[in-house]
Amino acid sequence: MRTFASVDAWRAAFDASGKIWLAHITGGEPSAYRDFVELCEAITVNHYISLNSNLTHRSLAKFAKSINPSRVSFINAGLHLEERQRRSGTDAFLRNADELRSAGFRILVSLVATPSVLARFEEAITLLKTVQLFPIPKLMRGRVDGISYPTAYTADDKSRFRVYSQLAREFYSALPSRVVEPPSLDMLHDDAYVDGLPDFTGRICEAGRKFVQLESNGDVFRCGGKDFQGNLLDGSFVRRVHPAPCNSVHCYYFCNKYVDKNTRGELNRPRQWWTQLAGLTGFIRNNV
Ligand code: SF4
Repeated sequence: MRTFASVDAWRAAFDASGKIWLAHITGGEPSAYRDFVELCEAITVNHYISLNSNLTHRSLAKFAKSINPSRVSFINAGLHLEERQRRSGTDAFLRNADELRSAGFRILVSLVATPSVLARFEEAITLLKTVQLFPIPKLMRGRVDGISYPTAYTADDKSRFRVYSQLAREFYSALPSRVVEPPSLDMLHDDAYVDGLPDFTGRICEAGRKFVQLESNGDVFRCGGKDFQGNLLDGSFVRRVHPAPCNSVHCYYFCNKYVDKNTRGELNRPRQWWTQLAGLTGFIRNNV
């Protein structure tokens, strides 16, 4: 396990930027990181976080007790139906989900929507009902076992996908929300892409200014490992001043949040300055 900086050094680096960050922490499995709770505790003193997690690690019980839910935008809990049933079952996932939800954390449960998962989706609905949650189908993207998605979805797959997306939207929209803007990973609208993925090439995007990719060693890139913008840990990180055309690849949810909506005119909408970290990805992945 390799770490590039102490918890205190990460906190100091975020604070020294003079901005308020919303750090989306992903992996690997972030909760398996050695100082996971301490890191979250330190960052959330002055900043905000969101997480991807499979909700199985024991550190999540401590997380639920130690972290202020109002500092956590959302937790994307990835449920792996087939894997869970092959291995240790769903007990740990349900226990952690229930504990976090009861403590006031906003949990979005998502399932990667393979055709077989879509066919068994009712099982996931029944399972999650016990902890007052609902599964969200997450679009398959790219090549899986030599098959390209979402184009490989059949008419039945697409039909199921749309139905379950709609049910998930109804479920989550009925929950009280304390966040001021939609989650960065807006899987609730993945059904818009069952017929094909959008192309963002050349579109004006706020990546590099309001959104950056942060690596495990503090290196910052505009998006997709391109356009180095300095290092957060050594204080050399510099934000872009202006939005610029997309020169990267579709990175799913962040594109929808940060690309210039143009006709919708959201680019210059006045609001609190936020930055989204697509990273800590490597930070976690390289350390477990
Ligand atoms: S891939 Fe998406 S987030 Fe990245 S620069 Fe292009 S539009 Fe922006």
